Amino acid sequence: MTNCIFCKILSGEIPSKIIYQDDYCFAINDINPKAKKHILVIPKEHIESLNEINDFSLMSKMFEAIKNINKQENINHFKTQINTGSQAGQEVMHLHIHILAN
Ligand code: 5GP
Ligand code: ZN
Repeated sequence: MTNCIFCKILSGEIPSKIIYQDDYCFAINDINPKAKKHILVIPKEHIESLNEINDFSLMSKMFEAIKNINKQENINHFKTQINTGSQAGQEVMHLHIHILAN
């Protein structure tokens, strides 16, 4: 998607350190962290939100990625958060799961 921050980060158009990636998703540190470690797990395919998913096997891939990321980052205790829709606080309209760890 041309005008999407996360797609631009994945393509390299916007420089950002990608801390993890696999066939389905990638992860970056949140630019405005709300916890000591605040990581965003993002599917490589541009899907706006949970409301637009058709194949929910993607979600299991994302949670598998979370397990890998947490092992890599030494995170054992964490919260996950998915905001869906602007009125629920979704600012970037490309699906992502927040990992928040203190
Ligand atoms: P949302 O509110 O959509 O669930 O979460 C979007 C998150 O993306 C926010 O926590 C915000 O700080 C983060 N964010 C927005 N733009 C950028 C960016 O350009 N780089 C990074 N690393 N994070 C971003
Ligand atoms: Zn996108």
